[in-house]
Amino acid sequence: MAGDGSKFTMTDQTLYKLTVEQAHEGLKQGRFSSVELTQSVLDRIAAVEDQVNAYISLQPELALKMAQTADERRAGGEDGSLLGVPIAIKDVIITEGITTTAGSKILENFAPPFDATAIKKLRQAGAVFLGKTNPDEFAMGSSTEYSAYGVTHNPWELTAVPGGSSGGSAAAIAAAEAIGALGTDTGGSVRQPAAFCGVVGLKPTYGRVSRYGLIAFGSSLDQIGPIAKTVADAALLLAAIAGHDPKDSTSLKRPVPNYLAEVKAGTGFKGLKIGVPKEYFIEGMNPAIEKAIHQALQLAQAEGAKLVDISLPHTRYGIPAYYLVAAAEASSNLARYDGVRYGFSLPAEDLLQTYFKSREAGFGPEVKRRIMLGTYALSAGYFDAYYLKAQKVRTLLRQDFEAAFKEVDVIFAPATPDVAFKIGQKVDDPLQMYLTDVFTVVANMTGICGISVPCGFAGSLPIGLQILGPALGETAILKAAHAYEQATDWHKQTPSL
Ligand code: GLN
Repeated sequence: MAGDGSKFTMTDQTLYKLTVEQAHEGLKQGRFSSVELTQSVLDRIAAVEDQVNAYISLQPELALKMAQTADERRAGGEDGSLLGVPIAIKDVIITEGITTTAGSKILENFAPPFDATAIKKLRQAGAVFLGKTNPDEFAMGSSTEYSAYGVTHNPWELTAVPGGSSGGSAAAIAAAEAIGALGTDTGGSVRQPAAFCGVVGLKPTYGRVSRYGLIAFGSSLDQIGPIAKTVADAALLLAAIAGHDPKDSTSLKRPVPNYLAEVKAGTGFKGLKIGVPKEYFIEGMNPAIEKAIHQALQLAQAEGAKLVDISLPHTRYGIPAYYLVAAAEASSNLARYDGVRYGFSLPAEDLLQTYFKSREAGFGPEVKRRIMLGTYALSAGYFDAYYLKAQKVRTLLRQDFEAAFKEVDVIFAPATPDVAFKIGQKVDDPLQMYLTDVFTVVANMTGICGISVPCGFAGSLPIGLQILGPALGETAILKAAHAYEQATDWHKQTPSL
């Protein structure tokens, strides 16, 4: 059915290249079925996955079954932007009956008895689940090298990391091994891998998407967010998963806008006030990135935006404060993995030894480092000096943004200080790894939203433009990102795999 001429010239073999929006249109017009689309993506995965390793687990049979159900629903008169669209899911999000490992050995056999709310919503929308993508263990990392299930390769340069911790999802989108994907962002893990892989990644406002069924890392920071080929696709995916959930008391009771309609109704950059924070252009950053962001700013200005120099004076305290808060919350959240309740267990002579042995063998080195650091920061005598102080820094960071968003609508900044680094380059140097998050953690510390969109290349590796907006400012950042995307064609470039 595909490739009948008028709009799509694609054959069944190249359907995997479609965006969510195009896939929806094609399915709606009956140009191809979800089974055909899903099969095309599965064939693509079979062709490139041994070079990329984006997935921990694939469910081809389940995917085709879900596709068939979607086709039946459509034949019954249903329509919906995700009905029959194949999606990849980061393996820290709980999927009923589908093994969910969080990239850790300690959950190697964990088949959850329930769905995360975001997953339930995707099922209701009729999305097709291709499989679970590789993350850093418990989403702790910036390169996906801390997974217990192997390294994911950057599709643009296979010797480079895809970023992390949602590296599998970002690589899957860049390599066209999924039409859309979900990641999670605790300190940058959607935006940073999106930047490294030349795709779009959105971190929603804290509370915009339910965290129910998201394996907890830093509970006051975690958010599930879409990773996609275009801004419009990110808008569609966000609309599908956002909203209040009685099962997550931190989810916001605010209506979910029709993000795509709002984006399409946008009037480009005209009248938009864009903040340019001086703290995001730092010594030592890749000059090609600095240049690309300035070019993006010039483009926006030429199209009618007003650029405003702003200062976010406490930015440099973001990294130390984040790594205390995230580690403290992780140490508490990970106490439940005791070798008794979930999956992996090394039974020993008594219960205490079972805990010790299972945790010793089940967790990797970065997770252990965070548990120790976090436990220390929370311990009596040190709590005030570390955790409480970090929380106070959080208030200062929030005040920085409150002041800025009185002056401007959105903020333009780089997503990362450098492009993707080589596999192995930072894996034994945690501090260097932590510093890669310098431009992303502050959004999580303050709960605001942000998006990364492709804005150029340094050599063969993509660069991400980060657009930050105030709490519940998703519409504003999506509109600005879409305006930028419309005026450029970075998002149309694909790696040669
Ligand atoms: N790289 C950051 C960390 O290791 C962020 C991780 C994330 O957002 N999940 O904590």
